[in-house]
Amino acid sequence: MWYAKMYFSGEKEFFENDAFGMQGLPSKRLELPFLESLLTFLELDEKEITPMLERISVNWERFVESRAREAYTAAMVELGVLAEKHIYLRLLYTRSFGCFSVNGYGQAEIQAIALDLKEFAKQFSETRKQVEKFLKCVLDVDSAGREPQKQAAKNYHHDQPRDPELFRFEPIPLSFEPVEPGRCAPVLYSSVVRDMIDYSLRSCVERGVTVRRCKNCGRWFPQTGRVSAEYCERPVKYGEQRCREIGAFRQWTKRQTDDPIFKAYRKEYKKRFAWIKAGRITDEQFYAWSEKAREEKKKCDREIISLEDFQQWLRDSKI
Ligand SMILES: [Zn+2]
Repeated sequence: MWYAKMYFSGEKEFFENDAFGMQGLPSKRLELPFLESLLTFLELDEKEITPMLERISVNWERFVESRAREAYTAAMVELGVLAEKHIYLRLLYTRSFGCFSVNGYGQAEIQAIALDLKEFAKQFSETRKQVEKFLKCVLDVDSAGREPQKQAAKNYHHDQPRDPELFRFEPIPLSFEPVEPGRCAPVLYSSVVRDMIDYSLRSCVERGVTVRRCKNCGRWFPQTGRVSAEYCERPVKYGEQRCREIGAFRQWTKRQTDDPIFKAYRKEYKKRFAWIKAGRITDEQFYAWSEKAREEKKKCDREIISLEDFQQWLRDSKI
């Protein structure tokens, strides 16, 4: 019987949820870029999530004590809402789902769920702070440097953090199996959310992945590619531009405005473009000129001709 699987493969992370333990036939499958689940978990709105977790925990406890079906339903309705908000929270839903299924759960499991829900609601805010601290002290390339292994070793004594506000690692239930044709990897089979956070953090250290705050959106992003990357490539809403593209465009614009060759070209270009409107030249004449001007600019960019030669050409070029 398992509720949720989590594993990393390449630059991706994978999640499978299954309340019925049908090996290989999950009820929900999700693929995300590496570390996306942990980063979105940190971005959840605490003011919204914590009260929901507390209500769920209270209802579940009521269900444990009285076996009141309506308390179970109330908890499940809110767990369903949370499941849609975040893949980690889906684990809570999946685990609680099976109580009234064919086999049903024993009292022990129902009580275990009650304890875990209560603990999770209580620790939700605290855990996220510990993770933030871990990012800053161990993974943040700007404050902790490029070597997460070194930083982790410095910040922990055996399995205990030197700073109690730092995330504490614990044993997690890892298996090992084929995850795609021809490749095996560790797979986390867990019944608590904390293990998923734990597994994400230790994987960053093991892989040497650093994080940084994006220069455009201000969110954390994993540096799975170049360490010098300043803009994130994190998923955006449909139709929106990714920060990396926005950053590339900004840099291009900046380069262009700083570039004397481009400046000289643009000045003449604008002047002639205005001539079309004034009726001094035709569209065809303008395009013929701009084509020639671009060729000359290319020569100048490649240092075949000097900037002065190019400026001279622009001044002398006739339409
Ligand atoms: Zn960004």
